[in-house]
Amino acid sequence: MTERLPCRSEGCSATILPATAAKTGGYCMPCKQEMERKERQRFIEQNRRDINLYEGITDPVEVLKIMHAPLKRDPLIRYIPYPQKREEVYSALSPGEAERMLNFALDLLEAGDEDTCQEILVSLVCYQNKSLETCIPTLLERSIYYPGILFKDASARSRDELLQQVEQDSDHRNHLLLALAWIGDDQVVHQFQEWRSDSPSWAEELYVPPEAYAHEGGWELTENGDKRRLFFNESFAIEKRVPSESTWIAEHEPAQFLKENSALCPWCGRRLTTLTDLDISHPKLRFLGLSGERLRVSTCVTCSCYDTIYMDVDFHGKSNWSQANSRQGYVPEPDSEEDDRSYAAAAQSLRLADHPRNSYYAAYWTLGQAVSQIGGYPAWIQDAVYPTCSCCSYSMTFIGQLDWEQIEEYGEGIYYMFLCADCQVTATLFQQT
Ligand SMILES: [Zn+2]
Ligand SMILES: [Zn+2]
Ligand SMILES: [Zn+2]
Repeated sequence: MTERLPCRSEGCSATILPATAAKTGGYCMPCKQEMERKERQRFIEQNRRDINLYEGITDPVEVLKIMHAPLKRDPLIRYIPYPQKREEVYSALSPGEAERMLNFALDLLEAGDEDTCQEILVSLVCYQNKSLETCIPTLLERSIYYPGILFKDASARSRDELLQQVEQDSDHRNHLLLALAWIGDDQVVHQFQEWRSDSPSWAEELYVPPEAYAHEGGWELTENGDKRRLFFNESFAIEKRVPSESTWIAEHEPAQFLKENSALCPWCGRRLTTLTDLDISHPKLRFLGLSGERLRVSTCVTCSCYDTIYMDVDFHGKSNWSQANSRQGYVPEPDSEEDDRSYAAAAQSLRLADHPRNSYYAAYWTLGQAVSQIGGYPAWIQDAVYPTCSCCSYSMTFIGQLDWEQIEEYGEGIYYMFLCADCQVTATLFQQT
């Protein structure tokens, strides 16, 4: 039997064959590989260059083109990031610059890069609310019907084309219905109403009746066949406060977030959380159209991961667990010791932005923007779900959302908040990827 030799690394207890030792200089293979890895790392650190692709570039359109271009991955290159985020650059574009960006997207489409074209067009809708009316015929020519938000401002002609096609094109029907829901003009509302009263033969191939697609566009049909909007145009980001704002007093803010509630969740026994506490008399929040002083939206942040949670409210700060809550999903074991409230710390740094932003800013969350907001169109991670009011059974209106990624270091998922003002009921639900 060949005698094995100890590895030369200090602290390594491996033994190796003499043949291996001859090859590695006396080290075992894992130690040898680790040494090589460190050597490579040292080489990279000594030879890495910083590259600033934005050096000397002042035109925001050129900046965005660079941001959308694929980066050559090279361990010896460190790319200096642009000082602003992509969403900030988009938001600040002038109308002329937005138009140039749109033309650039169409050039990319011409060259076969459908994905980047789509990403640019969605960004223009979300951050600028730019109408894509002029480029919709090109999208239709190429059978691009997704995402539906691109078609929001389609002309009557494009809309008619979509209405015609949805009857025949079973391959694209799902996307065509989404696009129509986003258009949501009188003709579309009328058509959805017709489909509701006389279900088309192709409807059975769908998971939901055709008129239910309206939720994806942020509206629903009333009993009379009218359009009822389910979100507000006004939208304020919930952002992180700059720590240097010394004059900041939480109680003076129009909105506070993630406050602890003294009431316990009847299901799991954990304390309830007030996701948001709104001063509805504040000028910024007048768009909610509520008369009173305070609207509190509370929930159990644990149980609402599994079920919609309703609360009975008034506009003077009341927020009580609703008798309408019914357990459908999994209910977590009651365990107050595991009651982790690390997110409460984030509450101190959250505030409502000073200025409103575009209603659709967060509508397509995969762009990677910060989506927490009061008002605006929701950032659905999964399908659009506007809860049915526990009282009047209309769909409830979306009033805001909190993105857990902005709140906890490894947080994910979004809490969505809804209100039926007539019945004085709030609801919360949660979605994640
Ligand atoms: Zn070793
Ligand atoms: Zn609970
Ligand atoms: Zn109601």
